Amino acid sequence: MLAGSSKITKGTSDGRLLMQLRDRAARDPEGFWAEQATLLEWFKVWDTVLDWKPPFARWFVNGLINASYNALDRHLPSKGDKVAIHWQGEQDDERRSITYREMHREVNRVANALKDLGLKRGDRVAIYMPMVPELPIAMLACVRIGAIHSVVFSGFSAGALADRINDSNARLVITADGYHRRGKVINLMENVASALNACKSVEHVIMLNRLGIYGNNGKSNSSISDASYIDWHDMVDRYDGYCEPERVESNEPLFILYTSGTTGKPKGIVHSTGGYLTYANATFRWIFGIRDEDVYFCTADIGWVTGHSYVVYAPMMNATTIIMYEGTPDYPTVHRWFELIERFRATIFYTTPTALRMLMRYNIEYAKVHDLSSLRLLGTVGEPINPEVWLWYYRAIGEERLPIVDTWWQTETGAALIANAAGIEVLPMKPGSASLPLPGIDAAVVDDDGNEVRGKKGYLIVKRPWPGLMLTIWGDDERYKQTYWSRFRNAYYPADYAMVDDDGYFWLLGRADEVLKVAGHRLGTMEVESAIVAHPAVAEAAVVGKVDQIKGESIVAFVVPKQGYAEYSELRHSIIKQVESSLGAIARPEQIYFVSKLPKTRSGKIMRRLLKAIVNDAQIGDTTTLDDEAAIDEVKAVYEELRKKITSD
Ligand code: ATP
Ligand code: MG
Repeated sequence: MLAGSSKITKGTSDGRLLMQLRDRAARDPEGFWAEQATLLEWFKVWDTVLDWKPPFARWFVNGLINASYNALDRHLPSKGDKVAIHWQGEQDDERRSITYREMHREVNRVANALKDLGLKRGDRVAIYMPMVPELPIAMLACVRIGAIHSVVFSGFSAGALADRINDSNARLVITADGYHRRGKVINLMENVASALNACKSVEHVIMLNRLGIYGNNGKSNSSISDASYIDWHDMVDRYDGYCEPERVESNEPLFILYTSGTTGKPKGIVHSTGGYLTYANATFRWIFGIRDEDVYFCTADIGWVTGHSYVVYAPMMNATTIIMYEGTPDYPTVHRWFELIERFRATIFYTTPTALRMLMRYNIEYAKVHDLSSLRLLGTVGEPINPEVWLWYYRAIGEERLPIVDTWWQTETGAALIANAAGIEVLPMKPGSASLPLPGIDAAVVDDDGNEVRGKKGYLIVKRPWPGLMLTIWGDDERYKQTYWSRFRNAYYPADYAMVDDDGYFWLLGRADEVLKVAGHRLGTMEVESAIVAHPAVAEAAVVGKVDQIKGESIVAFVVPKQGYAEYSELRHSIIKQVESSLGAIARPEQIYFVSKLPKTRSGKIMRRLLKAIVNDAQIGDTTTLDDEAAIDEVKAVYEELRKKITSD
């Protein structure tokens, strides 16, 4: 039934190593996780591996640890001169390479500065910065003194920033004057100033003078001179020397991060220190098999969880050299990321399906145009990857040479739960499947009543806590219980729809609340969208259910055609035929609308919820995390126009 499920690309091993590890974890989960925890350095070892009072898990109780110590201090004796970050600004001549020793020095300075401002363990700090090295420096400085960071993606509006500051009562905001995006100057400080009108808790603002918008010392000539803010360099340059890392208990929060908001109001996800770090570290090694000589390029913005776990914490705990890029992938051209891979000789490239679909639209064989021979591994995260897109990634970027790791996870899970563990061994790959749960992850698919099913679609659950599981939702234990632990007994419910096949491979089929219910059948959005995207004229597609008196729901598709396709009535017909032949008549879209873009979150995820509201004449609801308001206007216009045409026919 699933498009592409029959195609198996050969892996290199039989899975014995992975199975051994999974068996070992299943036999003695606590012993297994304790072993993983010992890969980190603790000031004091825990008394209890797991204190499990459902649904609250507390890992490595009474263990004392510090994240910045593990990410930096540990490496100084042997790897201090290794490059931590190759930073590339959007403008090509802006480039910096920073060693672990330099990172350590800066983090200590900022940490001392924060202490002098009166910041204490447990205080919340909102960080609203572009992709510059000072962003991870600020994060590591916070956690060095035991403060809790809440990174707010720099693309968010003043209102979204204010909501997040207020929800956590942040005492301090760390920001920059601005940054470059597609050649334009984005003024961040203006957003901060406007957000602060609605925020009572903030006592100080530290501003990095990234562009010199407010003059060279950051202070003169400014429209924000009233706001009490401190120039990053004025402040930090006054400090030098060591800042003793705070010894925090394993379950003290490391950070708060708001989910990307696809399904509605964002939730303030709280992660622990010891458990989170243990899990991020273990999965990073299992998935990427990280080596000392690796140059690792994860394209995620640090404002999202992927950036927290797999740009900052896990790579730095492993003294990995990372590439950090300030700009967008298609500016000035779609070659940008590939130029960076060439320039820095990246060995690992980790990105999103949404970016791949964008790159695919241009019909370029990137590996033929660029020297991508340094790469050894590709990865993807964020949405289900359509088999067609997977195969394109494999061919046009991987030259059928590189394994692909599809990593399924959420902000709430801390790090990946289901992924091809290429660092252990590369299993046979199935385009579109995230493959198997990682060791220690007891995942299953269940029906409405909670009974496990195989070969049938259902709801993904996780039956046992793991160290990366969130602590709670900030300030709202009840919402944590209700959202994740009330749907099925004693199981974590991520609200994703999925299927396990005969080989035990997991297929993520879309979000559970977006499942299409047509004449008694259920279809994941991913199934229908992948059948549409497999059409050679289609770049992207989103499907939603429209309430139908007879069938329950009928399928409505929004389709972005590739460049150069204009014959819509023909195309409409051939897309419908294509869906019918791959999934059957049941999956036939009742209506297809052609648009030039789909509404997406700032993290690039399709917001089907908005499309569904439009076709069902419902309230659109929260749109604060929408990337581009114009997309929703276009969808509405196209929808209205066609509807008028249909009713007048
Ligand atoms: P909100 O919870 O506020 O709606 P969000 O779910 O988009 O926001 P994230 O935590 O960033 O916020 O995204 C997690 C979700 O992304 C998963 O629940 C899943 O639906 C989807 N996802 C992530 N990675 C994959 C993947 N490899 N395959 C399939 N789906 C994925
Ligand atoms: Mg979610």
